[in-house]
Amino acid sequence: MRPARALIDLAALRHNYRLARQRHGGRALAVVKANAYGHGAVACARALAAEADGFAVAFLEEALELRAAGITQPILLLEGVFAASELDAVLRHELWTVVHHEEQLRMIEATPLARPLTVWLKVNSGMNRAGFLPEAIDAAWQRLSASGKAGEITLMSHFARADEPQVITTAEQVARFDAATAHLPGARSLANSAALLGWPQAHRDWARPGILLYGADPLPDEGHGLQPVMTLESAVMAVREIAEGAPLGYGARFVAPRPTRVGLVALGYADGYPRVVPDGTPVAVDEIRTRIIGRVSMDMLTVDLTDLPEAGIGSRVELWGRNIPVNRVAAAAGTIAYELLCNVKRVRFEYLG
Ligand SMILES: *Cc1c(COP(=O)(O)O)cnc(C)c1O
Repeated sequence: MRPARALIDLAALRHNYRLARQRHGGRALAVVKANAYGHGAVACARALAAEADGFAVAFLEEALELRAAGITQPILLLEGVFAASELDAVLRHELWTVVHHEEQLRMIEATPLARPLTVWLKVNSGMNRAGFLPEAIDAAWQRLSASGKAGEITLMSHFARADEPQVITTAEQVARFDAATAHLPGARSLANSAALLGWPQAHRDWARPGILLYGADPLPDEGHGLQPVMTLESAVMAVREIAEGAPLGYGARFVAPRPTRVGLVALGYADGYPRVVPDGTPVAVDEIRTRIIGRVSMDMLTVDLTDLPEAGIGSRVELWGRNIPVNRVAAAAGTIAYELLCNVKRVRFEYLG
């Protein structure tokens, strides 16, 4: 059997959720959209079910997968509904829905409903991606309320730059949100992972941590005690010595500057490892740090074993996990940990804890 696998540490997931909840105070929706950032939504939701106040997903089908798996906690649809016909399922499955746009408001007004919905009404406090502008939020709230189709209305907003501690934008968004909603009743929710860790003034009734649950710290200082949940690993399947000056792999991007011992690893970009990483990107072989050399191919990649004489066929290779932070690989690939984690596929998933 091919040794490529993603080990998912569910005890680490619970540790990170507890840390988030404690740091924020109040309640926390565990964000498990996009298949729990690539970790497996059902397994992650089940692992948190005993303690999570609720879950958040992007859209209805993601929520239905959790309900079908027996998850009974509240589940919020972060994108809300795409058609009025989804509102019936929202009620039937006791889901909560975001209302972030005029059109969604109209759908609710126009659709007969058996019971009131639990709505999270979204304020655009400066990100300008989704939500009602501060000057429009009162009218939206009044329309929802007058429709008789919303029970509880929670007020929410989302930050554009909470992962940049030196940038004033987050404080400005909080102030804009507060000014626009001060006269309205109901619970509030502002903080994603970065705001939860870095912006205490954004803490309200509910937090919405995502990436931090999976142990990738969104802030540059990274000193928050998170535990990585996914270890992406495989093994060395062949070893060869190449002479000084010999090219390695596609495009001969790497040319050996000295006699080089190359380990061939059974994992490639078809498994979700980024093709764009340069020579020198860190990997760990039998827990010892070394580097990628040569271009990543579809099913394989190559690592430098020259200074690891003990390593050979069967040696365990960690692409990211406890030895190699996924943030480090993301930086090498010019992207963020979110994207790398969401992209993992084809490998076997094994759950621990
Ligand atoms: C995805 C998402 C989150 C979680 O964000 P993280 O940065 O992963 O913590 C929170 N709120 C909304 C609206 C989201 O779309």
